[in-house]
Amino acid sequence: MSAPTPDAAIPAPHGSARVHEPRRGDCPWCGSARLRNRLRTGDLRRHRPGLFTVDECRDCGHTFQNPRLTAEGLAVHRRAVRGAPRDPATERVLALHAVRHRRRAAARAMLPFGEPESWLDVGTGLARFPQSAREYFPYTAFDGTDLTARVEKARTLGHVEEAHVGSLTDPAVRARLAGRYDVVSMLHHLERTTDPRAELHAALDVLRPGGHLLIETVDPRCAFAALFGRWWLPYDQPRRLHLMPRRNLRAALEERGCVLVTGGHRAAHVPHDLAGLAALALSHALPAPDTPWRAIPPTPFRRRLRTVLLRAGTPLVVAAAAADLALAPLLRHTPFANAYRVIARTPGS
Ligand SMILES: [Zn+2]
Repeated sequence: MSAPTPDAAIPAPHGSARVHEPRRGDCPWCGSARLRNRLRTGDLRRHRPGLFTVDECRDCGHTFQNPRLTAEGLAVHRRAVRGAPRDPATERVLALHAVRHRRRAAARAMLPFGEPESWLDVGTGLARFPQSAREYFPYTAFDGTDLTARVEKARTLGHVEEAHVGSLTDPAVRARLAGRYDVVSMLHHLERTTDPRAELHAALDVLRPGGHLLIETVDPRCAFAALFGRWWLPYDQPRRLHLMPRRNLRAALEERGCVLVTGGHRAAHVPHDLAGLAALALSHALPAPDTPWRAIPPTPFRRRLRTVLLRAGTPLVVAAAAADLALAPLLRHTPFANAYRVIARTPGS
């Protein structure tokens, strides 16, 4: 597949702001200096400027953005920008009805452990997961944390009882919530945090003794990652910072005395690898879209051509999405599964 021109020469959206930390020479998970480069890519999904690198530790398999974006750089890339292009095909892949189905499956996975009194969903956004989980746990009090004020909106809508804006690793948030919860959930949250190990420890601190931590996260060992390279949608650069192999997560939880009560790929696989590849490849094979950071906007003809060709290519993405769904029952048992679920019980009663 032909590579789109890197946009590295284009200044970042906020001129002088430093968007990258210094590049690190060691693995942020185990400290090993044996790193290898996995990929270099631009922001394939949102067409924002910048070039990003993902490295992998040869010793523990931890996969991470290196150099990492600064907090300011991350905020720029996570914010909606007026006039920024949205690829209808890619957005549709991400918004497949299967997302709701997966939230319900994650909630059902907690049924064998009884009805919790209190449940904290970390990185909850508009608290769609607590909404789904309530179908199975109608008497549980759900709270949420998020880096953005969306969690406040979720509270006013009645989706959560308490809303905490900020990181769970923030000492003030952590102290306020210490030892309060029967369940803490982190669904596709760890990969977006700057320090996933600190985030894990904070989650364990807010659990009661004998409480349960529910995690779903991307598996960097997925065979699609090696096959598709930077066109593998779950890399989602530059928004995903750390991808952890399951054994690393398991070891970190066991170090804290947790018992893994379940863990596997079967239920957590997200069937969107082929559709993601088709949508990203289609979007980048066409004339580039207009963006607020382009010095010379495309001509009206090229703009129109892009719209028409994107529409014409949509059946390809739909066919790939159908193939994803059809293959999911098989792939989720193979190295092609792209995510895993871990449920750990903290020590105590
Ligand atoms: Zn490592």
